[in-house]
Amino acid sequence: MYVAKIFWDNPYLTELNAQITGVENQLVTVDKTIAFAFSGGQESDYGTINGYSIVKAEKQDQQITYLLDRLHDLQIGDNVLIKIDWARRYKLMRLHFAAEIILELVTQNFGSPEKIGAHIAADKARLDFAWQGNISQTFSFLEQEMQQIVSSNLPIKSAFADQEKEIRYWEIDNFAKVLCGGTHIKETSEIGSLQLKRNNIGKGKERIEILLR
Ligand SMILES: [Zn+2]
Repeated sequence: MYVAKIFWDNPYLTELNAQITGVENQLVTVDKTIAFAFSGGQESDYGTINGYSIVKAEKQDQQITYLLDRLHDLQIGDNVLIKIDWARRYKLMRLHFAAEIILELVTQNFGSPEKIGAHIAADKARLDFAWQGNISQTFSFLEQEMQQIVSSNLPIKSAFADQEKEIRYWEIDNFAKVLCGGTHIKETSEIGSLQLKRNNIGKGKERIEILLR
């Protein structure tokens, strides 16, 4: 069954009325949702469906299944209220986009090193590269460029590249257009101020950690 992913149309929505479309013990599906399920390195939202906490949100193809924290009385056809933990989601959105920009800056300016990992949590994001040497040598450049992008408050477009296959992209004019199914902020100023940290995660492997200040 299909679920309308309102977190793409409006990533700032914190509450949504929806209808239950499937129930299997503690698992439920809904006709539309604002609760993001882990994909593309971005962690799932925390939230509730009619007061039941979502313990796990899982994306399978175009469907999303929510595991609720306990047995419930929800039935197919019931109208429910979905709420998300907005403080957490907004940090995820800001860190996600900060990671998008850092990745783009590294790719554009440092010879497209291979990205070997990425993860967006609410307290920090990380990007891993196949990289010889110490990647923190790029940080003064990256921080300067990032500050420029943030203070220019550039608009970020997010839309479907292919609606049927639910492939999304984000775009900043004259900077980049990138396929990504995450939830994205609208303007670069929302990122605010950042801190970059280096972590050497193995021979020839360097990690950039991104933290919000
Ligand atoms: Zn993204």
